[in-house]
This record gives sequence, C-alpha cells and structure tokens, in this order.
Amino acid sequence: MQIAEIFESVQGEGPWAGTQSLFIRTSGCNLRCWFCDTPYTSWKPEGTAWTLAELCHRIAESSAPDVVLTGGEPMLVPDLVPLSEYCKSLGKRITVETAGTVDLPVTADLMAISPKLSNSSPDDASWKQRHEASRFRPEVIRALTSRYQSILKFVIDKPEDLTELQQWLQQIPELQPSTVWLMPQSRTREQLREKSPWLRELARKHGFNFSSRLHIEMFGNQRGT
Ligand code: SF4
Repeated sequence: MQIAEIFESVQGEGPWAGTQSLFIRTSGCNLRCWFCDTPYTSWKPEGTAWTLAELCHRIAESSAPDVVLTGGEPMLVPDLVPLSEYCKSLGKRITVETAGTVDLPVTADLMAISPKLSNSSPDDASWKQRHEASRFRPEVIRALTSRYQSILKFVIDKPEDLTELQQWLQQIPELQPSTVWLMPQSRTREQLREKSPWLRELARKHGFNFSSRLHIEMFGNQRGT
C-alpha cells in the first residue's frame, strides 16, 4: 500500500474530535479539490510502499484506541479491507474518512463521508471535468450510509454554499440532518476563526452539527498532525 504518512494525534473533526488516534494516510485520490489540505496525496501524490504485514505491526505497536484510515481516498485501496479487519481484531475503534465516491467492504465503526460540493472544483482544466464527473455518487453514499454508522461532513467556504447543500440533501432524502456536520473551509487558524462564528450559527439554524478543525486550532496546517 502506498502510504503518505502514519502518525499519532488527536482526531480534529466530527463527533469523536479530541480522541487519541493513529492516522494511516493512504496516497492517491480520484478527486482534485482546489482546497485539498493534503496535496501530497492528491495533486502530487507521494509516499512509501508498506506491506500489509508491516502496517499491521505498526498498528499493534500503537497504544491509541482509535485508528483513522484516511487519505487521499483510502477506499481506492483494496488492502484496506484486511487492514481494517486486523484493526478490529485488536479492539481498535475504526474511522474511515472518505469522499463517498468509491465503495469497498471495509470494517468500520464510523464512516466519515465528506462529499464534495461544486465549491471544491479545481481551476486546472485537465482535472476539472474528471473531478466534476466523479464527485457526486449518490448510489455510493446510499450504500455506505445503509451499511455503516455514518456522518456527512461538508466543507463550507461561503454562506451561499448552504443552498447547494440543501439541494444535495434533497436528492438523498433518507439522510437525516442530525448526521450532517458543517466544517469551515480553512487551512489556517485565521481562516478558521473568521468562518467559524457564521457557520456555527447557520448549522444551528438548519439543525446540522458544526465541527471545528481541532488539528488546525492546535497545530495550524502542519503535516503529520
Ligand atoms: S477528496 Fe480529499 S484528498 Fe481528495 S483532493 Fe479532495 S480534499 Fe484532497
């Protein structure tokens, strides 16, 4: 498996924010969001090849109770299935972080799906069309949310994005607002501070959850945090 990084830190987003976690970040993504905060897994994918046995050994060494399988797009990696099963056999609580465009029969306690709205579209002409054709896969969202405890995390850049989010949700009406989390599009502490107040208020108004990005609050946009 091509792995961009492995590190221990606190989960920064969603309902389990603050929990000590081992992050395993796969390299490679089928999307190219302009705001990608891990471009070393998408625009310029890098990493090291790890065998499944090496990864299992690294996980067994960690005392963190949670394992976060993230990317990039981890659901592109078939070996995530046996890897997640191994995590479960160790009694770890597993979060899979995905954009919800690819399905894979992984083992997960929480499927943290971050669907991408049109505000994610890149300027890069060679990627724009492919990104737009791939970013909304309602059949995958339905399949994942029917099998796993799931949340939907939306990156919000401007208040106007809420209109598109409402239209998005109307296309999959079985999804409950209580499973929706809004996060500020931010790669710096300053952006997070500027956007959090109005986004928190919008989330409250619409019955959604608000999620800060604890790792940015604590470390800024540092790699491996
Ligand atoms: S889906 Fe995630 S990893 Fe892929 S380009 Fe978008 S933000 Fe980056």
